[in-house]
Amino acid sequence: MPQPPASASAARRDAALRAAVEQGLVGPDAPVLGLLDVAGVREAARALKAAFAGVEARHTFAVKAASLVPVLALLNEEGIGAEVASPGELALARAAGVPAERIVFDSPAKTVGELRDALASGIAVNADNPQELARIDELVEEFGAGCAPVGLRVNPQVGSGSIGAMSTATATSKFGVALRDAGAEQWVIGAYKARPWMTRLHTHTGSQGVALELMAEGVRAAYDLAEKINAQVGRQQIDTLDIGGGLPVNFDSDAVTPGFEEYVRILRETVPGLFDGRYTLVTEFGRSLLAKQGFIAAHVEYTKTSGGRRIAVTHAGAQVATRTVFAPESWPLRVGAYDAEGRPRTTAPLVQDVAGPCCFAGDLVARGRELPELEPGDLVALYDTGAYYFSTHFHYNSLPRPAVYGYVQGYIQGENGAEPGKVTFAPVRSAQSLDEVLAESGAQYAGSLVGLVD
Ligand SMILES: *Cc1c(COP(=O)(O)O)cnc(C)c1O
Repeated sequence: MPQPPASASAARRDAALRAAVEQGLVGPDAPVLGLLDVAGVREAARALKAAFAGVEARHTFAVKAASLVPVLALLNEEGIGAEVASPGELALARAAGVPAERIVFDSPAKTVGELRDALASGIAVNADNPQELARIDELVEEFGAGCAPVGLRVNPQVGSGSIGAMSTATATSKFGVALRDAGAEQWVIGAYKARPWMTRLHTHTGSQGVALELMAEGVRAAYDLAEKINAQVGRQQIDTLDIGGGLPVNFDSDAVTPGFEEYVRILRETVPGLFDGRYTLVTEFGRSLLAKQGFIAAHVEYTKTSGGRRIAVTHAGAQVATRTVFAPESWPLRVGAYDAEGRPRTTAPLVQDVAGPCCFAGDLVARGRELPELEPGDLVALYDTGAYYFSTHFHYNSLPRPAVYGYVQGYIQGENGAEPGKVTFAPVRSAQSLDEVLAESGAQYAGSLVGLVD
């Protein structure tokens, strides 16, 4: 079933941009801004929970997709925990008040100190490889079996999607124990037999560009393995299957396709046993929860032509849309054109390039795109950038991280019933100040090299 048109969220987005201009959050002196639709985040969280209704599921959000404490706190309020992959991400989850039992710690490079902290705190850990498991053995001896849920990440090696760098389940992926390698499965079964406290099995077949059927194949491989292990040890030792995240996002329109319910339908067809109540499921979705809930607004500083090409020079480029600029075929974004008051421009489309502020020629977020003619003082909106774009800043040209605000839109009583009303903003992150840019650029050591004499 296709989702109803996402026009409600598009209308909220336009209202938020208009209000952000009115309130001076974006414009000539605040040339780039991230905006997040709080109602949209809640809707996405509820859609996820509804899709898995009927089975015991613990949902976590992949923190790297929006490493912003207020976002994690909002999701936590909706019952969604945190999947973390570094001490920084764990600190953010803790600062957001996410309880330990809702946190999952994955990473291919956990240090002994990080493992110790997680296990001592009761945070679930998914080991990536045999060497890491040996470290965990020592810590479990120290803290006691059952100190925290422990799982093993396996790579079902089901193949690649359309974006190589996003495909975690290829034959040679760096993640997890490669199940189809010679002897690997037997080793995994033995590893569980030797560790009665290891109760989880983890796989993550993602991400953008991977077909749902392939993702489901990855989950099936993990499920089949869990069944085999439980049969061999003679009890349901593995009681929790962590199926990862990775649901791709549609960047072509406002439609939410595929939705969580479609993925769950395919999972039910492919792996019916997953839903028969014997396993608790853990999920780790990132992009699919947040991408459509955020956008970047940027001021158009100048317009020009070069060799016959019409170019709008804006303040959103590689510093905020790094993947789009460096890999435009894999990460195209829709761009909206708005006038200086933040109203959508509706004039006839003209072919234009939309450039960013960075000093290299390839800093374009759209090439040869048909858009209403942009003028200096206008705004462009980069849609569907609520996941990864706010949290994956590129410090090129010492450009500061922009502010991020969340918005909600109230209702007013109109002649024909309730009509959309005032937009209210709440800060998620301040724009980085020049002092902060200086601090992370060694300003406190200004004279250190000059003073270093031989
Ligand atoms: C990145 C990641 C996710 C989330 O991926 P999305 O494509 O954003 O849903 C989940 N689990 C692990 C282990 C990851 O590395």
